[in-house]
Amino acid sequence: MQQGRWLTPRHPNREVFEKDYPKIDMDALEVYCPGCKAIVRLGRKSLTGRIGGWCVKCSRAVAP
Ligand SMILES: [Zn+2]
Repeated sequence: MQQGRWLTPRHPNREVFEKDYPKIDMDALEVYCPGCKAIVRLGRKSLTGRIGGWCVKCSRAVAP
């Protein structure tokens, strides 16, 4: 499994992130959170096809 990176610019909260990444990615990739090293599921997709996930512990969005 690869290490993820922070998604920039940073989203103030999960709701804003999910508005930016409104689609659900069914075969979501899993990466390690760059902060707490927990496994983060990149289950959201932006309208431009970028994927991302939310680390609850770090309260921050993660990208591949
Ligand atoms: Zn984290």
